[in-house]
Amino acid sequence: MEFCPKCASLMQIKKRGKDRVVYVCPRCKIEIERAVGRTVHAVQRTEERVTVVAGTASKLRTLPTIDVVCPKCGNTKAYYWVVQTRSIDEPSTQFYECTKCGHRWREYS
Ligand SMILES: [Zn+2]
Ligand SMILES: [Zn+2]
Repeated sequence: MEFCPKCASLMQIKKRGKDRVVYVCPRCKIEIERAVGRTVHAVQRTEERVTVVAGTASKLRTLPTIDVVCPKCGNTKAYYWVVQTRSIDEPSTQFYECTKCGHRWREYS
């Protein structure tokens, strides 16, 4: 629910987009835009972003390596990169990719 910043009338929804809603004041016709569904959409976007970063990593091979034991083959070297999520309750996620078998896993910092 939104109230008009000018006359304080209850505003009506004029247009409902995918993540935005446009409200219009029935009295003075002011229009305002608000982002909606932040919680749900943020989670989906994070997942998309993770996929993109991981895909780029496998092609470039310019990532730093770290001494960590691969849970799959026992190798002690892995590439790593950190993905910073925008969500408050989810901290940054560290990803590893084994230099030997290519196994990928993640660790929450
Ligand atoms: Zn108004
Ligand atoms: Zn491995």
